[in-house]
Amino acid sequence: MNAHLTNASSRSIIDTIVRDVADRNPGEPEFLQAVHEVLESIAPVLVERPDYVEAGIIERLVEPERQVIFRVPWTDDRNRVQVNRGFRVQFNSALGPYKGGLRFHSSVNLGIIKFLGFEQIFKNALTAQGIGGAKGGSDFDPHGRSDAEIMRFCQSFMDELYRHLGEHTDIPAGDIGVGAREIGYLFGRYRKITNRHESGMFTGKGVAWGGAEVRTEATGYGTIFFLEQMLARRGVALDGQTAVVSGSGNVALYAIEKLQQLGARPITASDSSGYIVDENGIDLELLKQVKEVERARVSAYVDRRPAARFVAGGSVWDVPARFAIPSATQNELDEAAARTLVRNGVVAVAEGANMPCTPEAIDVFSEAAVLFAPGKAANAGGVATSALEMSQNASRQRWSFSDSEDRLRAIMVAVHDQAYEASERYGSPGNYVVGANTASFVKVADAMLAQGVI
Ligand code: NDP
Repeated sequence: MNAHLTNASSRSIIDTIVRDVADRNPGEPEFLQAVHEVLESIAPVLVERPDYVEAGIIERLVEPERQVIFRVPWTDDRNRVQVNRGFRVQFNSALGPYKGGLRFHSSVNLGIIKFLGFEQIFKNALTAQGIGGAKGGSDFDPHGRSDAEIMRFCQSFMDELYRHLGEHTDIPAGDIGVGAREIGYLFGRYRKITNRHESGMFTGKGVAWGGAEVRTEATGYGTIFFLEQMLARRGVALDGQTAVVSGSGNVALYAIEKLQQLGARPITASDSSGYIVDENGIDLELLKQVKEVERARVSAYVDRRPAARFVAGGSVWDVPARFAIPSATQNELDEAAARTLVRNGVVAVAEGANMPCTPEAIDVFSEAAVLFAPGKAANAGGVATSALEMSQNASRQRWSFSDSEDRLRAIMVAVHDQAYEASERYGSPGNYVVGANTASFVKVADAMLAQGVI
């Protein structure tokens, strides 16, 4: 029926689907933003592959395979009953079991989990590790909660979620607000309920009980490996250059660590209270002590580092640097921030977080020929190393830190190269947004096509 699609007709098909998604998913702006960004890139693919259109691939892709929303009741330290909402969106399993993290943050709602789950489909495809896309979480806010409260919340959350999980079904991991402590409590409850030590049903576990070396570091390290590849193509050195990093959680800390190991000088970190600037370069041991051990606000860093300064509120993107690594949360870098970065001479931006740059910010980078690495490619190292953890669990092996880091680096080089080659093939050389979207879309679409209308 669509034997001869032109660029214009495939765009019109995409516009119709985007409108339909908007009508069917009201009040979910982040989800629509993520869908729009992917579908905008794939018109040239449809010109080559009208069979995708005929098989309804796109309409099926934008509808999650399953969505679970549940009540999470728990008791706080003052014996009061609290009620949160839990989510798991199992978006697409054409390439493998559902895989994606859990986010605990007060801003979590269905639209945010759907945006993250949708992105995860394509990110996971780029890793070539045979994993489908999912995401979950809760509007629970862990800030200021005691360990006992966190444990009771995690146990109640798992009391419902366990029935939807399994090493061949759906494998969660961490994300904002879900780190080693939470994964321990969640895994422990799953083990108790199911009476199985099913290591491969969760990733990001402690190394002593089934976790993998380098999983903690993988997202931050991988983002910098991707940056390194992008810069190498353009003949730009990383060594000796400054970087602004946002966030001070898992991704930010290990992006800072790898930047330092490669000779760059990261000078900022942030959290929702503001940002710190340390022109001498971030003292990573001190920052880890503040954020990982004391679980304090980032401002506590400057109390012990007089040369550094703390800026309450404000925008970390006001700080001039050659590279920007947004590693906190979605839409944290807007058009005005992008203009400031460009004015201050930024040459490359790599998204450690998921969708931290707004579409307008990405346009600014593109007009200014700033290298731009979208999160679904740049931060794929985290989930890729999760897949390595699943492999080790399945074969009861343990790989060393250096072996695991070599594998991570090789995967990130491959993710970069796939995205670059697809950007050339589909007429936008060096545009990694187009490259990542088209390369991953084709993989998922081919698998869906082969598996019939399900
Ligand atoms: P963490 O919880 O470890 O850290 C998140 C950091 O971002 C904290 O510094 C937090 O500050 C800040 N932050 C979160 N929400 C907001 C907000 N609304 N406004 C301002 N600052 C905020 O999370 P991760 O480091 O794991 O995740 C960071 C990003 O990376 C997310 O987008 C996540 O989806 C993405 N990602 C994570 C992966 C992983 O392996 N962990 C894998 C791939 C992507 P505060 O404490 O004040 O809230």
